[in-house]
Amino acid sequence: MYRIRFHGRGGQGIKTASQVLGTAFFLEGFEVQDAPRYGAERRGAPIFAYVRAAREAIHERGIITRPGLVIVADETLIPVPAAGVLQGVGPDTVLLINTADAPEQWKQRLQYSGPVLVVPAGTESAFVGAICSGAAARLTGVIRRESLVQAILDEIARYGEVAVRDSLEHALAAFDAMEAHAGLVAEGGRVGSTDYQPPGWIDVPREPATVSAPAIQVPATSELANTGAWRTHRPVIDYALCNRCAWVCSTLCPDSAILVDPDHTPRIDYDHCKGCLVCVAVCPPHAIRAEPESRHAEEAKP
Ligand code: SF4
Ligand code: SF4
Repeated sequence: MYRIRFHGRGGQGIKTASQVLGTAFFLEGFEVQDAPRYGAERRGAPIFAYVRAAREAIHERGIITRPGLVIVADETLIPVPAAGVLQGVGPDTVLLINTADAPEQWKQRLQYSGPVLVVPAGTESAFVGAICSGAAARLTGVIRRESLVQAILDEIARYGEVAVRDSLEHALAAFDAMEAHAGLVAEGGRVGSTDYQPPGWIDVPREPATVSAPAIQVPATSELANTGAWRTHRPVIDYALCNRCAWVCSTLCPDSAILVDPDHTPRIDYDHCKGCLVCVAVCPPHAIRAEPESRHAEEAKP
């Protein structure tokens, strides 16, 4: 059975990438499961999706804990324990990372002995989901180019012709770029209930909280995490339309990135606005619009 996990952030097309890969497997005659996992938050939040593909009925359920391939669309997730990128990774797991660093650097950084590959495109590509699905398809060695094409047509058609064209272009380029590694991802064997290995529990002696509670030496450092770097679109307030209701956008912003001046004027903290665009959706007089981040990057150039 192929067990493949995609990790990325909301908005990178990770869920769709797993659907494309799952459909491509299905077109090759495999039994398939594909499922995304994410919480209530939207753009920028860590998400993952997984695909199982087997030549017989799949009885495994739930999150893949022993992946044969882990695809990382955003390298900043790797050190985040809650993202679980490295969960269950073993020496036979292939890591495919969207990064500007060399595979050898990652092997050293992670002290990892298994194969590490780099996603064949710039880390800034807006089509990272399509690229990951194309690369993953080739790494399995059992998905033909025409099945990948058909899977993209099946899964992306609802987003329109331009999305289909761009996805095909990027996914197929990644598929071709991975030719030298075709078949690197091996089929894992069955994991039956009798193969279950209970965790090696260790009893840790308990201490009173006054002894064991962490000491916070430097408080309030979360402000230093510049989540504004995640945005693909930024919210922009039209102050001519804003009626200074003073609470809707600032209260519903999940990152508390909208501050309110004493005169009730809202101001967006772009260092910490992750671009989820909740504020755009909830502002009653539609005073907040979304603008592509790339436009502001161009305007900021000297
Ligand atoms: S929700 Fe809209 S109207 Fe209310 S303060 Fe925010 S931008 Fe202004
Ligand atoms: S300011 Fe708007 S776009 Fe930015 S994080 Fe808050 S709700 Fe999301």
